[in-house]
Amino acid sequence: MRKANPLRIGILGAGVAGLAAAWELTRAGHQVECYEAAPQVGGLAAGFREPEWEWSLEKFYHHWFTNDRDALRLIDEIGARDQLRILRPKTSIWIDGHSYRTELSPASLSLPLSPLALARMAFTILYLKFTRNWAALEGVTADRWLRRWLGDEGYEGLFRPLLIGKFADAFDQVNMAWFWARAVKRTTKLATFAGGFQAFNEALAAAVRAQGAQIHLNAPVRALQFPQGQPTLETPQGRQRFDRVLITGSPRLLLRLAPQLAETDYGAQLRSLRSIGAICAIFSLREPLLTDGTYWLSLPAQSADRSRNEFPFLVLVEHTNFIDRRHFNGEHLIYCGDYVPSDHEYFQLDEASLLARFRAALPKVNANFRDDWLRRSWLFRAPYAQPVPTLHHSAHIPPSQTPLPGLFWVSMSQVYPWDRGTNYAIELARRAAALMVGETLPIMARS
Ligand SMILES: Cc1cc2nc3c(=O)[nH]c(=O)nc-3n(C[C@H](O)[C@H](O)[C@H](O)COP(=O)(O)OP(=O)(O)OC[C@H]3O[C@@H](n4cnc5c(N)ncnc54)[C@H](O)[C@@H]3O)c2cc1C
Repeated sequence: MRKANPLRIGILGAGVAGLAAAWELTRAGHQVECYEAAPQVGGLAAGFREPEWEWSLEKFYHHWFTNDRDALRLIDEIGARDQLRILRPKTSIWIDGHSYRTELSPASLSLPLSPLALARMAFTILYLKFTRNWAALEGVTADRWLRRWLGDEGYEGLFRPLLIGKFADAFDQVNMAWFWARAVKRTTKLATFAGGFQAFNEALAAAVRAQGAQIHLNAPVRALQFPQGQPTLETPQGRQRFDRVLITGSPRLLLRLAPQLAETDYGAQLRSLRSIGAICAIFSLREPLLTDGTYWLSLPAQSADRSRNEFPFLVLVEHTNFIDRRHFNGEHLIYCGDYVPSDHEYFQLDEASLLARFRAALPKVNANFRDDWLRRSWLFRAPYAQPVPTLHHSAHIPPSQTPLPGLFWVSMSQVYPWDRGTNYAIELARRAAALMVGETLPIMARS
């Protein structure tokens, strides 16, 4: 549908948010040009495919929950529902040299906690699952709230180590509303897209192009200016003037492109947002590592200093215990993932040293592991990967409409109280798209 007076809209970034915004805006009849610095679409949810593989593999492990409504709706809209695959993989936690199931089931009763600690844990999770008043929880840290409700044994034994793993030394600053959202949102069934998330990204990009948008790859935007009050992007295709511009990405990126925001209240909000980075090492093995079929193995951390923990990373994900390895030439694919601040040594160490450090920990979960199981490996690092929601976070989130003319922003840092994810990138993008063309969307019932 072409509008009589379409707006010319520039989007920086062809991650899921940029593509979802392009989908909405072209659907409403506007002209969209999307600029992506990378050679492929998908951003943090992008994947890669070796020539022997039928499916792509995400650079950072990805799945959807079955209640990720905005993602499922978009998949429907682009006519790709038949590509959705819903599975029920096993999730576990590593405690004192053993793996324990973590889904809420009779199996979790085997966790090495006293009956009283188990009962407190079950009661706390049930309470969190049924309460809706998350706003009341954002004034207290998860560290304090959980210790009070679970007691020292349950908190120290289970949740504190998980918080340390996820947020490193910021673990005791994260608010309880974030934890509530994690407990409420998790589903035992998980979903993916046939061909992997990259196949979803490509399907979305194809749908967006079919509606008339241009997606420029290898096209980093170098500057943003406002001649005659109109947002203008400096791109490899030259200076492009737009009626509206949407920036997707980190608060730091927005401040770099629009330094004039620094002196505004909006800029102060941007600067107050905290985040940490993510590291993923991927190993292709000849044999399975987690032989009990576990997909997701949480590795509790006792210290934010990774060198003082049993494992130098937070989670071990055996992708091929989720997705059949026949799609990957029969290879067993393992992620070793961690979240650390962007100035952590994991961002400075050379690739070979970091891979060697992570690989050395693999025999701890499978004593039969031998170095000759290893076929090949990859390493991915993202300095902006996980926002850290501190106390009263809702008061610090800048809206999508910036104070600069025609300039809008969508970012993981605006996702709240939910944990960031492609579902929310889509929701935020949809909302921002409506705002850019002068509509407001009703708040959807949240799952
Ligand atoms: C370890 C990890 C695990 C995750 N697990 C899941 C999961 O299981 N399920 C889930 O749904 N989500 C998951 N996520 C989150 C999900 O990846 C993100 O929420 C989502 O991809 C964010 O999309 P975005 O478009 O907002 O940002 P991004 O993906 O960061 O996209 C921004 C884009 O802008 C581009 N860009 C930056 N600067 C410029 C420039 N100057 N010019 C042009 N382009 C530029 C970047 O290259 C990028 O493509 C995970 C993330 C990580 C790191």
